[in-house]
Amino acid sequence: MVEWKVLLLFVLHLSLCQSAKYQRTVKYNDEILIRCPTSVKGIKEFLQRDDIDVWRITPDGLADIRINKNLIQGTDIVTKQCTAVADVEALVQQFENMTASVKLHGQAQQEWHEEYHRYDEIYTWYRDLAEQCGDRCQFIPSIGKSFEDRDQPAFHVGDPVVGKIYFQCQIHAREWISGATCMYIADSLTNNPDGSERISNILQNVEIIFVPLVNPDGYEYSWNGDRLWRKNRQVNSGSSCRGVDLNRNYNDHWNQGGSSSNPCNDKYHGASAASEPETQHTQNYFRDNGPILGAIDWHSFSQLILRPYGWTNQDSPDEAQLKEIGDEMSAKIFDVFGKTYTSQKVIDLYPTSGIASDWFYGEDATSTNGAYRAAGYTLELRDTGEYAFLLPPEEA
Ligand SMILES: [Zn+2]
Repeated sequence: MVEWKVLLLFVLHLSLCQSAKYQRTVKYNDEILIRCPTSVKGIKEFLQRDDIDVWRITPDGLADIRINKNLIQGTDIVTKQCTAVADVEALVQQFENMTASVKLHGQAQQEWHEEYHRYDEIYTWYRDLAEQCGDRCQFIPSIGKSFEDRDQPAFHVGDPVVGKIYFQCQIHAREWISGATCMYIADSLTNNPDGSERISNILQNVEIIFVPLVNPDGYEYSWNGDRLWRKNRQVNSGSSCRGVDLNRNYNDHWNQGGSSSNPCNDKYHGASAASEPETQHTQNYFRDNGPILGAIDWHSFSQLILRPYGWTNQDSPDEAQLKEIGDEMSAKIFDVFGKTYTSQKVIDLYPTSGIASDWFYGEDATSTNGAYRAAGYTLELRDTGEYAFLLPPEEA
């Protein structure tokens, strides 16, 4: 369970800029980002509203919220307690204008990692990576098709002598750094450009499984429609609002807090547990490849390493070990990159249910994982709010 921690050392600094094929149609003209203290009475209730978009809540109790500024008038508590942080349209445009790039040292396919890429390019990239890699790697063209009929591929590298580790990426459409980070890890492991003995040792003992594009439809829509889209693209019956939050849709304590039954809400949990094809396919693939020792669901932003549970305050049976691993990942990231990643339980941040990392560790997955509880984490990548989902190359 412990050995795979070292994988995280190859992760968190990427140099990326946007590609030219991006076409946004949604404008955010009246929208602002505000920051509110969650400890103040009335703010917690405000956070439950369906017409706001909570970007994150920090460990020390601040919430960053995207909201139409016209909605703030008449909400006393918000005008008194919250401060405007940014204009959302300006923030997105700033991201779009970033074109500078920072060269990485010793990385294979260096230029590839200096840009974000479309679904088709990423799909082909993993296929080619497996082809060049030969016997040690495997490309699975499709573990299933998304709501809009796009394939969800998988990529395997290494030997499962000790066990298997599972990574899934890009479950939330707008968190582009998630998919980019997984490509960077897959590349670093497969090509091992620095000839690292540690990587060779890992791959001789551990098989790493990537599901790099959990939410292909939402991801594409964040390129050709709404840069800040989060959910998949499900058509919800009885509603004009599209999309289910896949990370509230897993079959683990589904709909038990921290999700919404309103299809217009960004945290809409779907019609039933694992109602979404994208959720079903990842659950099935995880099962089919079991037993899995550890699993990470990659997100941004906030710099957090989150362990079970999200749905209850109670400690999990493996709290001591899960905490130790989380704390150690945090310490190593700080040693190597000088960045603080807070290690904590999901619920200590905010209550959630039906999330992937609780499912990895929970009863439903355990029942088909050789009775083994996979160490399940949600990892929130950089930064801590300045650029949010719109991390530019200068910050890498
Ligand atoms: Zn996310």
